[in-house]
Amino acid sequence: MVKKKIEVICDNCEQKIKVKPKEIKGYMFFKCPKCKKEYPICKISPEGLRIRKEIKKERAEYYKLVTQNFPTKVLKDKEDQIKKLLQEFQKNVTPLTDNAET
Ligand SMILES: [Zn+2]
Repeated sequence: MVKKKIEVICDNCEQKIKVKPKEIKGYMFFKCPKCKKEYPICKISPEGLRIRKEIKKERAEYYKLVTQNFPTKVLKDKEDQIKKLLQEFQKNVTPLTDNAET
């Protein structure tokens, strides 16, 4: 697992900002702690929010299956299902920044 610490410089006041994304109803953004300038990150559609909930549920279920030693086939099916959901989720996310580094 990669620990990512994202730091940006505020356009407005040149303050170094540690990015801690916030979310309000699918709208993700962060704010400069000094001048309060708002930086949009992305927008998740209502459908996307629904899918995200489903992914959470499926993942919890997946780990339950893992700990209960279910056959590989069952786990694989679950993995595929989660992958599909993730793809669907991505389609419902609109980036709002053009300098996003991924
Ligand atoms: Zn600022």
